[in-house]
Amino acid sequence: MILRQFTCRAVINSCTQARIRRLRGSVEMAKPSSDLAAFREFFGKAKNIAILTGAGVSAESGVPTFRGAGGFWRKWQAQDLATPEAFSRNPSRVWEFYHYRREVMLTKEPNPAHKAIAECEERLGKQGRKVTVITQNIDELHRRAGSKTILELHGSLFKTRCLSCGHEAANYKSPICDALKDKGAPDPDTHDAQIPVEQLPRCEQAGCGGLLRPAVVWFGESLDSGVLSRSEQVLDSCDLCLVVGTSSVVYPAAMFAPQVAARGVPVAEFNMENTPATMRFKFHFHGPCGTTLPAALARHENESN
Ligand SMILES: [Zn+2]
Repeated sequence: MILRQFTCRAVINSCTQARIRRLRGSVEMAKPSSDLAAFREFFGKAKNIAILTGAGVSAESGVPTFRGAGGFWRKWQAQDLATPEAFSRNPSRVWEFYHYRREVMLTKEPNPAHKAIAECEERLGKQGRKVTVITQNIDELHRRAGSKTILELHGSLFKTRCLSCGHEAANYKSPICDALKDKGAPDPDTHDAQIPVEQLPRCEQAGCGGLLRPAVVWFGESLDSGVLSRSEQVLDSCDLCLVVGTSSVVYPAAMFAPQVAARGVPVAEFNMENTPATMRFKFHFHGPCGTTLPAALARHENESN
């Protein structure tokens, strides 16, 4: 399985692009269809559906990504702050950034794409059929929409990990600690709060008290091997794959769908733009996924209950 070679989070480089092109070279190239009725034929029969989701789904809920043009928090973008080096250099600044992102999520809601996926999982589950979400998003909007089977490739904004004892825990506190209250403003002229490290979020395991970090996968870090192997199992066994709102430029997610397509399994892309992989997919539905996905995943006439 090729995924093992791409277990580290990074924006794709030219060498990797060449390898992906070689992998994709093994797949027959044809213009993807936007025939919803034809997609629905596959959907009506599928027993095991994998749904890969990325930033585009969250963007429709107004969740900022801090990437690309205009995507700044103060003077920085995600790739400047979402690294182990940035955290060890300036844990206060990185915690301000994540505190801001956690607090922003209190004002955001799942959109019709999240809801259509959750509703589809529940409905198909009653028919003995399976839907698994594999997401690059860390905002937990799939969970809040009601999805149950979720593999979070990049972790969660609402989990912490202790640097001393390694304990991981869900954490929905607002603010996450007293010192971060009202900190994290995104404006470029905001000064760092320079919170002493002992006042940043600390481990609550008995006798520990170590510094906590967000349990997200930072640039340059490896993906969780358990999450990755469960994702591989899902992708190896799915009979329909949806790629929703992901630009296919961050790997290993960029590898997933082409690999499923190479098995001959239909892949349907729902996105605002053509991505480098689009030509390898059977279907491409253009537009906001909050509009395209509910129609695609609605109850099929074949469904018994
Ligand atoms: Zn600890």
